[in-house]
Amino acid sequence: TTNGGDMWQNPEGAPKNLASDAIINLDHGDPTMYVPFWKSIGDKCTVVFKGYESLSYFSNPKNPCWFLEPKLEESIKRLHGAVGNAVTDGYSIVVGTGSSQLLQAVLYAVTSHDQANPINVVSAAPYYSSYPEIMDLVKSGLYKWGGDAHGFDKDEPYVELVTSPNNPNGVIRGAVVNRGGILVHDLAYYWPQYTPITSSLDFDVMLFTASKCTGHAGSRIGWALVKDQEVAKKMTKYMEVTTIGVSKESQLRVAKILQVVADGCKRFGSPDGDNFFEFGQKMMAKRWEILRETVKKTQMFTLPKFALQHCTYFGELTQAYPAFAWIKCKEGIEDCEKLFRGHKILTRSGRRFGSDPAFVRGSSLYIMRQHSGWSFISAGAPRNKGL
Ligand code: PMP
Repeated sequence: TTNGGDMWQNPEGAPKNLASDAIINLDHGDPTMYVPFWKSIGDKCTVVFKGYESLSYFSNPKNPCWFLEPKLEESIKRLHGAVGNAVTDGYSIVVGTGSSQLLQAVLYAVTSHDQANPINVVSAAPYYSSYPEIMDLVKSGLYKWGGDAHGFDKDEPYVELVTSPNNPNGVIRGAVVNRGGILVHDLAYYWPQYTPITSSLDFDVMLFTASKCTGHAGSRIGWALVKDQEVAKKMTKYMEVTTIGVSKESQLRVAKILQVVADGCKRFGSPDGDNFFEFGQKMMAKRWEILRETVKKTQMFTLPKFALQHCTYFGELTQAYPAFAWIKCKEGIEDCEKLFRGHKILTRSGRRFGSDPAFVRGSSLYIMRQHSGWSFISAGAPRNKGL
């Protein structure tokens, strides 16, 4: 396709000479758009491991989550404190291989192990397309996917996954069933570049991930803030049995990244440009501006609208710039994904989110990888991954 080098000088620049067989792949939420920021940071985040380091399975035998690196725990607490998006005092932290693994650990921990039938796990449509797959992959005897929370009317225990802001549509959400079930809050996108931070959340179980916070999806680090120590201990047990903990190298790398983000995030408008959230918000705002202009010109689609809200982090009224665009085709077009595919643009059908095929989800996070040219514009990009 085109020369990747231009991209680093002009991350918002568009490729000039697209090959006629190029495919624009907006299917994935792969957060490569943040690469220019991390390049600009230079060596501040470089972490070196000596051959004799991190050999042990253990990190801190005194912590109930005994494989959690103390440096990571400290950085997580500092970052939430600096951003003001979640309370950490009184919470246990459990680290996982991405929040995807933690989700399974939570379900293991909160389901009753002597029940006759698997408990239903529900989430309001449109829900994150990986949830059904994660729930049913191994046909667990403890839990099973129960579908759209709006339609759940059984008088029995359940778990509700509350994704806020929501993937795919960026909406801030609360529980919908409200019949005393167990709530798990997936807060992967509750960071200032995506949405106004309106309060420091204190739900029972809150899941976060480096993948969407800083863009380090490849390190596979997620963390859970858990109020009930017994739940945290059971989650730790799940991790112990499935993977005997989480890579120390990944944890220490992410600890460093979060520390650098926390250090920079209290400097606003700094000439050094080392505030990651300012960078991220600007980049997302630009992308949404271009997208909204384009949609307006075509008159064929609609996009969600978001009200301005006071963001306690930026200290001003801000707009939401979700990681995904939830695009609806205007009347008469039933299969929006097919329409885009016809124009060589890969998106994910609303059907995959338990919703209407007149919708598609397009990623706002994806840009080229330097080594392979434009990866969001290439026929060879991986497809049909959950992400
Ligand atoms: N929850 C939501 C809502 C997501 O969008 C994603 C990633 N797309 C995840 C969880 C999982 O992220 P990871 O396993 O990379 O932490």
